[in-house]
Amino acid sequence: MRELNVAEITASVREMCIEANYSLSPDMKERLTEAAGEERSPLGRQILHKLEDNLEIAAKEQIPICQDTGMAVVFLELGQDVHLVGGDLAEAIDEGVRRGYADGYLRKSVVADPLRRVNTGDNTPAILHISIVPGERVKITVAPKGFGSENKSRIFMLNPADGEEGVKEAVIRAVRDAGPNACPPLVVGVGIGGTFERCAFLAKKALTLPAGHRSELPHIRDMEEELLAKLNQTGIGPAGLGGTVTALAVHILSCPTHIAGLPVAVNICCHVNRHAERSL
Ligand code: SF4
Repeated sequence: MRELNVAEITASVREMCIEANYSLSPDMKERLTEAAGEERSPLGRQILHKLEDNLEIAAKEQIPICQDTGMAVVFLELGQDVHLVGGDLAEAIDEGVRRGYADGYLRKSVVADPLRRVNTGDNTPAILHISIVPGERVKITVAPKGFGSENKSRIFMLNPADGEEGVKEAVIRAVRDAGPNACPPLVVGVGIGGTFERCAFLAKKALTLPAGHRSELPHIRDMEEELLAKLNQTGIGPAGLGGTVTALAVHILSCPTHIAGLPVAVNICCHVNRHAERSL
């Protein structure tokens, strides 16, 4: 069995918090450039070019892309043949977040109690999702999530009879209700199936897929393409000021569910769809 010291996880999480906040992944940058070419409104094009300029300046000057540097969402795929040593895993991840947000001069946006609202001062705790997978590697994805768009995310517990049309209506409704407030152009993560919490997890995970990723399942792929086209006909446009690019991508993940239900979660992300990955 392979041993891995959790100090390595701390160091990687620190780096990834900074990297994700200073620079979008190449797939997101490419998608934004493509979108600027697709946008038909002159004002919309101008906004998309400003967003591209903003990305370039952030990377060059090593400063955050956005003032909301997000709550640190961490997906950890833990190989079942790895023996973690050197301390507590969750604490090691929080220590990485703590150091990354301090060293990267990133805004601390987490409150300890949702009602008392006192800032923890170091952006911890992270939201940690752990999956046990075969093998002896540890894959870490850090996805800092801004709350302008998180606040517009929705869950719909549909009836099975609502079917594909019901799912599409739910996604379009969530994006229409979000309007300009989620900082469009958006990346829309959709989770279908499972239980109440499983579909929300899938929707969040869908945001970490490469921008423009298409499902291998033909009916899901068709839905992704149709939804992207329909969302871009809503007219919301870049920054909500009108245009033909409201969404950059729609990613859907699905899983088995109960005979009596059709859960759908829509996790909305702004154009600052940040994620960094490492395999240790
Ligand atoms: S929703 Fe996104 S772009 Fe808007 S403020 Fe939050 S992180 Fe920044």
